[in-house]
Amino acid sequence: MSRIFSGIQPSGELHIGNYLGAVKNWVALQQRFESFYCIVDYHAITVEYEPALLRERTRDMAISILASGVDPERAVLFLQSAVPEHTELAWIFNTLTPLGELERQTQFKDKSSRQESIPVGLLTYPVLQAADILLYRADLVPVGEDQLQHLELSRLVARKWNARFSPEKPFFPEPKAEVTPTPRVMGLDGTAKMSKSLGNTVGLLEEPAAIWEKLKPAVTDPARVRRTDPGTPEVCNIYHLHKAFSPPETVKHVAVQCSTAGWGCIDCKKVLFESMKKELDPIRERAAEIRSNPATVDTTLRAGAEKAHAVAKETMREVKERMGFAP
Ligand code: SF4
Repeated sequence: MSRIFSGIQPSGELHIGNYLGAVKNWVALQQRFESFYCIVDYHAITVEYEPALLRERTRDMAISILASGVDPERAVLFLQSAVPEHTELAWIFNTLTPLGELERQTQFKDKSSRQESIPVGLLTYPVLQAADILLYRADLVPVGEDQLQHLELSRLVARKWNARFSPEKPFFPEPKAEVTPTPRVMGLDGTAKMSKSLGNTVGLLEEPAAIWEKLKPAVTDPARVRRTDPGTPEVCNIYHLHKAFSPPETVKHVAVQCSTAGWGCIDCKKVLFESMKKELDPIRERAAEIRSNPATVDTTLRAGAEKAHAVAKETMREVKERMGFAP
């Protein structure tokens, strides 16, 4: 069975953008692959953060992931900081990674341009990411399109290390991208990617009444000024959310009703709201159940870390042996 690795930052409860873009896919992939899912808390400290909030957000993220359907019996769910080999391997990879490769990473250019003093961790973040993936010798990494450049760096690091220390038979596989089927989810303002910092999200665990209050004013096709104006579904974010939440026959119906002005945008949003409720109600209920028994989360993450650690330790043993470290 091929192995996949995927990481997510501990940003608190999931919003539907993270859910559709990553975690929903994790739930499907755990059926087909040996899956390692990691809450990458070391990545979260490359920017300013509050220690107490990090703890709370890590727990909330774990609850959201488990409530979404990641099954600890099928997949290994763990915290990056609980497996010290991640940073150990990252150091080794730091010694092989060309500075220029890191400086030209789009995310580094973007984030560093907004900071006066740039922490080294922001620059070497993709090296830690390479270590995260290669520590488990993962064959595949489910990624969004904006992560493809970092994955390419992981492939480069694997190639460089193999060429230097394991030329006969490559030890690290060059991980391939499993691009997520849901394209990036736009926020309810319809102009930017859904993101907590932009305040345009719908929380995965939000109560239905709160979700409806957000959907009502959400931006639609600007050409539909009057109820009688026909619209173009493809330019409307609500239509794309239908594609994520509604059954295919409803999506077809939406397209027809929109382009013929058969219904208004509020009618369309009411149908979307019902589809969302159908998928999200059970997740919210499961999350409440998990939250009422906090020990479950700790036990699950600890058990996951033990399984991950067993694999990580073995990888590091082989890496160190090939690199000439004394046993
Ligand atoms: Fe968007 Fe639906 Fe309105 Fe068409 S009818 S513009 S798909 S909200």
